[in-house]
Amino acid sequence: MPWVTRGLRDGVVTTGYPRRPDPYAEELPGAVAAAVRPGAEQAGDLLDGDLLELCPTGAIGRDPAGVVTVDRGRCLLCGRCVHARPELFSWVPGNQTSRVGRTALVVPEAAEDDTTLAATRADLARRVRIFGRSVHVRHVDVGSDGTEEWEIAALTNPVYDVARLGIFFTASPRHADVLLLTGAGSWGMAEPLVRTVEATARPLVVVAVGTDAASGGLVAPGYAVAGGVAGLLPEGVAVDVWVPGSPPSPFAILHGLLLATGRLVAPGEVRAPRAAARRPR
Ligand code: SF4
Repeated sequence: MPWVTRGLRDGVVTTGYPRRPDPYAEELPGAVAAAVRPGAEQAGDLLDGDLLELCPTGAIGRDPAGVVTVDRGRCLLCGRCVHARPELFSWVPGNQTSRVGRTALVVPEAAEDDTTLAATRADLARRVRIFGRSVHVRHVDVGSDGTEEWEIAALTNPVYDVARLGIFFTASPRHADVLLLTGAGSWGMAEPLVRTVEATARPLVVVAVGTDAASGGLVAPGYAVAGGVAGLLPEGVAVDVWVPGSPPSPFAILHGLLLATGRLVAPGEVRAPRAAARRPR
């Protein structure tokens, strides 16, 4: 029985996140930032054409004031910009990359978005107040390349073990509180997604996982995709939390789920559940 000795040797492998920071998650490159640091003024010599050539998905742009921005909802984390212009672009380590509101994925964040985002966050907090310590998640693939699915599947392994936080995956939308959407938004999945949304219990929280889900990634624009999952959702239903990354790590997806279910009371501040409990059917 080698697994017994291996188990005794390895001890507890389950992460302590979110009760305490996980060193591995803290080191992972989670996002790209347009750096404001010595040498960044050299951005002035970057023409818009340079920016377009630098990034395969057009994630790099300029705001109206001419400041170089990165849309993390389009970023594939390929690293080309960091390699080519390290004085301007840098990796941001850690898993706290999820945001409420699509515009919040564009960094540096525009100050005029603050009021809108505050209202969006308040609306989400009001809807998830009813959730107890047990949340059920239904995953729907609307045109994914499969990478996000590997990361989502990892959430149930002994390292991440989201069941300890009262987060469970369910096979039926009728039992779900949260819809976890992946993929570039293929039109062929439009009707199944609408039927899934209609069958899901209310209040409903929608989480878009991955760069493809946020913008369509490399395959958008294209005849077969809506350029992200938002374009397939029926009227009156919108994405609540965006998890960027191609694919996002399990830690980043977990951060998004915690944000979506009201377990993160402020950016970086975590209120972990006291115990996991299955909700009676
Ligand atoms: S990491 Fe790649 S995809 Fe992301 S902004 Fe840089 S060049 Fe674009």
